[in-house]
Amino acid sequence: MLTITRRIPFCAGHRLPLHKGGCRNLHGHNYVLRVTIVAPETKEGMVLDFADVKRAVKGWIDENWDHAFIADRTDRDVLNLIDSMDMRRYIMPEGPPTAEGMAEHLLCDVLPDLLGPLGCVCIRVEIEETENCVASCSLDNAEEMMLPRHGGATA
Ligand SMILES: [Zn+2]
Repeated sequence: MLTITRRIPFCAGHRLPLHKGGCRNLHGHNYVLRVTIVAPETKEGMVLDFADVKRAVKGWIDENWDHAFIADRTDRDVLNLIDSMDMRRYIMPEGPPTAEGMAEHLLCDVLPDLLGPLGCVCIRVEIEETENCVASCSLDNAEEMMLPRHGGATA
């Protein structure tokens, strides 16, 4: 299978309200996102033009996560603080803003809407919090999703 991977660095703040250690404090990371994309067929030798990946995926990151505070939706104190200071925030639809949760949210909720219109599927998202700590989320049915659709009966 041919794939392409685009690396997209961004900065964001977060905290894990129920964490026993340092991660319960407000802090940030220089995150590195990697999205791996497949398409049912290549066009002009490409899965997808890297410029299109940049426009779609980096565009979304720039608008939603870069220099934002990525918050747990139940973390009312932090949400009130951020809103009182008129700061940029992104509320996770479910669960705490761990690297794992962020990877899953991108793969399952965000990227299908961005890449579907381009005829592609993201099969793997990696979120690097530090160069030593990386979480990933992958589709396990990527081959199935890439099979050409055959409508109706065959002759
Ligand atoms: Zn952190």
